[in-house]
Amino acid sequence: MSTATKTSILGKLASDGIFETVDGMTHEETIRLTNEVCAHNYHPIDVVVTRGQGPFVWDKNGKKYYDMVGCYSALAHGHLNEDLIAVANKQMERVTLTSRAVYTAEMAVFLAGLCEYSDSEMALPMNSGTEAVETAIKLARKWGYRVKGVADDKAEIITAEGNFHGRSISIISFSSDPQYREDFGPFPPGFVSVPFGDAGAVERAITPNTAAVLLEPIEAEGGIIVPPDGFLAEVRRICTRHNVLLIWDEVQTGFCRTGRRFAWQWEDAKPDLMTLGKALGGGLMPVSAVVGTRAVLGLLRPGDHGSTFGGNPLASVIGVAAIVDLYQGKLDELADANGRFFKGLLHPLIGPIVKDVRGKGLLIGVELHESAGTGRDFIPRLLEEGVISKDTHHQTLRFAPPLDITREQIEDAAGRIVRALAR
Ligand code: PLP
Repeated sequence: MSTATKTSILGKLASDGIFETVDGMTHEETIRLTNEVCAHNYHPIDVVVTRGQGPFVWDKNGKKYYDMVGCYSALAHGHLNEDLIAVANKQMERVTLTSRAVYTAEMAVFLAGLCEYSDSEMALPMNSGTEAVETAIKLARKWGYRVKGVADDKAEIITAEGNFHGRSISIISFSSDPQYREDFGPFPPGFVSVPFGDAGAVERAITPNTAAVLLEPIEAEGGIIVPPDGFLAEVRRICTRHNVLLIWDEVQTGFCRTGRRFAWQWEDAKPDLMTLGKALGGGLMPVSAVVGTRAVLGLLRPGDHGSTFGGNPLASVIGVAAIVDLYQGKLDELADANGRFFKGLLHPLIGPIVKDVRGKGLLIGVELHESAGTGRDFIPRLLEEGVISKDTHHQTLRFAPPLDITREQIEDAAGRIVRALAR
């Protein structure tokens, strides 16, 4: 973009106003400008969203859609949740950013509420899911050296093939997706990968240097892969037996998404550390955290780790309001019941086009036969029917609506999905 165009948009924004400028842009202009000025690290679908409410969004032409991507499961509370907006507005009249150089009661109650809800002893606030995972890796290594007695710089962490934990250099170093790694090396050592869902492989990979096992309880971005029954509990037993920390990455599966507060609760496989994010931001802003035992989180000393924005008062009240809403509304039970209902409506699709319908709670994947095309091929048909979905790992379409979506809305949405996929 030329300097002249840049100047002109700033001049227009200054004279016409931000919202007037935004509202004045057409569907085509929005896509053209985005592609000109935004690096192409995503391949968005052909929708320009202007407004959201509950499970719905509207586009530039006023067309209404069910938002089944739900910001990759971050929209547990739906768009513009009234309670959360009220809390955020109130806090925005008090104080928003302080830094951890001072104390705030907002952060204290946030982390106390988070610990109670997740049955944890301590917490550390961050912003994105990636940062939470990075933080957990640092904590696990520190525990390995200080407590387990692993030799300096030799700590290993066991991960799974097909994982997705974020996009930082250390996290992509143990990704099994070649595109995530290509051109981004060199990578830090210390990560070992085993097949997902194979507890025996986890145990065989353990050495005296193993500090932790880091896994998603369901591989969400990997294609909504649910491990065999008993896997979570077996990994817990293995970690305990070998004095290895268990870290569940619940950034996507946490906060009722799978029909339990946290997915490890399906098998009572309580971790030593858990990474959280997405829904913790209540659909308003990035809020993440690591929670776990005092024996691990208590190892950090001032200066070991930090974040300018982590635990700021605005994020803290939004985070605690997000938890209170899930707790009061018993959203775990609701997501379990509604997830079963939704999957039941999609199951009859299994046939020549659809290979599998799977998932837990309201994290549902519909896998297509390769002969039928890729997930992306079906997105335009779903859009025609008023449903926004996204392919995850080529063949699987993701359906992850807000957790308080009603039965009637599920029935309506499922009818649309069936019409789009049966054709
Ligand atoms: N961990 C899991 C399990 C995820 O699904 C994601 C994002 O999809 C992340 C970590 C990274 O979170 P963020 O994109 O907020 O950095």
